[in-house]
Amino acid sequence: MIAIEEAEEILNRITCRPETEEVPLIDSLGRVLGQDIVSRISMPPFDKSAMDGYALRSDDDSRTFKIVEIIAAGSVPVKTINKGECAKIMTGAMVPPGADRVIKVEVTEEKDGMMTITGKDKRENICYLGEDVKPGDMILNAGHLIRPPEVGIIASMGLNSVTVNKRPTVGIVTTGSEIKEPGRELEPGQIYNSNAYSISAQVKQTGALVKYEGIVSDQVEIIKQKIKKLLTETQMILISGGVSMGDYDYVPQILTDLGVQLHFDQVAIQPGKPTVFGTRGDTLVFGMPGNPVSTFIVFEVFVKPVLYRTMGFNYTPSIIKGVMNKDFKRKRTVRTAYIPVRFNKENKVEPVEYHGSAHLTALSTAHGLLKVPRGVQQVLKGSTVYVRQI
Ligand code: AMP
Ligand code: MG
Repeated sequence: MIAIEEAEEILNRITCRPETEEVPLIDSLGRVLGQDIVSRISMPPFDKSAMDGYALRSDDDSRTFKIVEIIAAGSVPVKTINKGECAKIMTGAMVPPGADRVIKVEVTEEKDGMMTITGKDKRENICYLGEDVKPGDMILNAGHLIRPPEVGIIASMGLNSVTVNKRPTVGIVTTGSEIKEPGRELEPGQIYNSNAYSISAQVKQTGALVKYEGIVSDQVEIIKQKIKKLLTETQMILISGGVSMGDYDYVPQILTDLGVQLHFDQVAIQPGKPTVFGTRGDTLVFGMPGNPVSTFIVFEVFVKPVLYRTMGFNYTPSIIKGVMNKDFKRKRTVRTAYIPVRFNKENKVEPVEYHGSAHLTALSTAHGLLKVPRGVQQVLKGSTVYVRQI
């Protein structure tokens, strides 16, 4: 059994240079940038009014001004502003020559083509040419994950398509003679297949593609054929179940028989101890213990970072600092535990009701996982903790 950190180190050594492809910007959400985005333009592209109001000269002490022009957003001003003059201007419109200040409409009065200042507005209310971005500025680096703001940023650069890294296909195999697909009636001794669905969802959330191979019963030859096929068709294989100590847990042996080099087959993590990781060529293979909470946590801790890396994205989980609101205690401390916790109404951290690694519904009330390192027996009320968001 190796420590989590050792397993993470092994996984961190996996490198990958994904190929790229061009996609329409509108389809780029969740993809990883395959190119640097360097600006060709200035933002804003001209001195722009930040307010609806009146553009005038800051060296002009008049209280009343002649309105010489009305400037709508999108139109080009034709008049130069002299002392005693102003232009009515809309938010987003070009500031006219001569003017270097905009008085917001709320502190003015307009009558018979004249504007009078009736209140105070100390701001310039002008966004200057290039104050946000200049031509040649590096906007986003290759390897950046495209979230909604990035989609907007790329659009603001005038691009309607973008080069992204190609997505890997992840094969999913569910083992277990007792497992039944949802949508049918359970026979005695059977349970529903939740893993294939939660794992697929986790994979899709990273932006990778899923190739689901269905349920295979605990028979060596059938499992072997499925994995053999996926070894040539996919970049990563996730196998649920069949990795523990039971008589029908065949997966590690099958992987070895298929020429998969195993890098670890037991990790000091709770839940998730029998996790197996191996490689054959460029294909990565995980054997994940079947209990649904184990599967979920093993994906979060081990699979997700390496899967993102194969997509060219250097993922780090989001960790939130909090204060424990209840004691957490445990007896055995050989493994590092991940405990489902939530932030309560006072924003304090408390473990959710959790009966163990089969208790999947516990995760519905959890906001994250509390890492309790090897050797640590208790986390006391009032102590500062770091919660890994799920
Ligand atoms: P295993 O890792 O195959 O020994 O399975 C451990 C536990 O997880 C057993 O109680 C299985 O019934 C359960 N299990 C295995 N696969 C699944 C699955 N796909 N969905 C839900 N539970 C599962
Ligand atoms: Mg099984």
